[in-house]
Amino acid sequence: MRVLFFSDVHGNLEAIEAVLADASKRGFDRVICLGDIVGYGADPEGCVSLVSALSQCAAVLGNHDAAVIDPRGRGDLNPVAQAGVDYSRRMLCAKSVDYLRTLPLLIDSRGVFVASHASPQQPQEWRYILEPPEARAALRATRRPVAFIGHTHFPLIHDALGRSAPAPVGKPLAIRPGERYIVNVGSVGQPRDGNARAAYAIFDESDRTVRFFRVEYDVDTAARKILDAGLPEILADRIRRGY
Ligand code: ZN
Repeated sequence: MRVLFFSDVHGNLEAIEAVLADASKRGFDRVICLGDIVGYGADPEGCVSLVSALSQCAAVLGNHDAAVIDPRGRGDLNPVAQAGVDYSRRMLCAKSVDYLRTLPLLIDSRGVFVASHASPQQPQEWRYILEPPEARAALRATRRPVAFIGHTHFPLIHDALGRSAPAPVGKPLAIRPGERYIVNVGSVGQPRDGNARAAYAIFDESDRTVRFFRVEYDVDTAARKILDAGLPEILADRIRRGY
């Protein structure tokens, strides 16, 4: 079984279409979307209808998705993020809002992995995992060998020994017996590691190996649509530069 993992699409239809086309060439059997389908980008409705219609696809709720379906929100989004949430709320049809409302905070494969948007340790708290102490706390909270996450938009691997490293393309992560990892698959629609290409990963359950990929997409069109939608200019800049 090969599982396609992607996260933080953030309303970027050009990027998610490119990811799905690229991943289809490599082959996968199941899909897990790690949350934040909406926010920031110009096509929240297009992205939710695309992801919700994928076959064999499960998704978890992200903090931007949660803010969109709860008009009271959590009140802790910065003004630029809030603008994306307000825009998404205006653009989503009732069916897409209902779909977001069905999403769980965590998926437990009851085998090798758990999947959540932020740290699997109390996922509703939307904790970031950037440093080893946060990764160790998250590993303590789950008994599975791997926790797949998103949220920071940085593709990163954290191990149980407290080491953290970027998740590079072309360097697969083999999960050997007894080893445990937090794997951040990066962001489809708004990478922040200085690489503008959309990030995703494929986990092969047969050899327990995670492979990381980046794919170019039509950034200019996605950026132009952000400006045409009246969203903050910085959101168009960010996707062009990948920061
Ligand atoms: Zn995000």
